[in-house]
Order: sequence, then C-alpha cells, then structure tokens
Amino acid sequence: MMKSIPFLILLLSLGLNACGQKGTTTEVKKDTMSKFEVQKTEEEWKAQLNNEQYQVLRLKGTEKPFSGKYYYENTEGIYCCAGCHNPLFKSETKFDAGCGWPSFYEPITKDAVKENKDMSHGMVRIEVVCGKCGGHLGHVFDDAPGQPTGLRYCINSVSIDLDKKDGK
Ligand SMILES: [Zn+2]
Repeated sequence: MMKSIPFLILLLSLGLNACGQKGTTTEVKKDTMSKFEVQKTEEEWKAQLNNEQYQVLRLKGTEKPFSGKYYYENTEGIYCCAGCHNPLFKSETKFDAGCGWPSFYEPITKDAVKENKDMSHGMVRIEVVCGKCGGHLGHVFDDAPGQPTGLRYCINSVSIDLDKKDGK
C-alpha cells in the first residue's frame, strides 16, 4: 500500500504534465509561425532578406527612430511586406505621428496583419505581424485620437516595401 501511493502520485503528476503540455502546445501553435501561409526555414529567410530586414522581420528587432527610409515618405502607393510582398498599408492611411517610425491608422484589410500580445521589455504592447508570413512589422498603439481609427500602427521601414502608384 505504501509503495503504491508514490506510484499513484507519479501517475497523477505525469497525467497533469501531459495535459499541461497539450494545452501549451495548442496555444503555442496558435501563436507561432505554423498558422502562416508563407513558411520558410530560418536559412531561407537569411538568404532572402538583408541583415537589417532579418533582424527586424524574423528576430523582432526595431530600427532606430527617424532612421527608416519611409519615415518621411509621402509618395502614393501600397506598402507591402518586405518578407513576402503581402499588401499591408495604403499610403493614404500613413500619417506623421512624430514618433520616428512610419505610422498608419489602419491596415489595408482586416487580415493583412495579425496582432499578438507582446510582454517583452517589461511592457505590454500589441505586436503587429504580417498576416501571410508572420514577419514582425512593429506595434499598434491606441494613442492617435486625431486619426479616423484612433490607432497608430507603428511600423519599421525595413519591414515594408512601397509599391509606388506610378510604378517608378
Ligand atoms: Zn509577410
């Protein structure tokens, strides 16, 4: 009898662990790259992207404020994902938020981007990723009361490519 109790506890804890892991796996799957249409290995991304793009899109880095090529850009066109060319934002929705990164008040479609809770760097922020390849784009904040949506999609220039309307 004394012997079977620790065994029972072991069984119970194994069972609990198994359940716990199952839950975690499902949750992680929902949040990881597996749900994205464009799937590439890290090697493939490294080969395709330049180092700066790789650091931001795949490793969730941030370009220095006021350093990005699109911060002062106001040419008409569509901003696409630099990783997979998924259309993300229209130039009409771009505004100067004074924050040092290109800012938009809404994505081109509801599914163009996906949002994840980001608890890194001791802050709670909403991360914005490409809806097609999962590449990190930036964060969204609700601090733009002057804009139609009140939102500020704060996006790294290196994560996006502008397809200019006039094709140049
Ligand atoms: Zn993408």
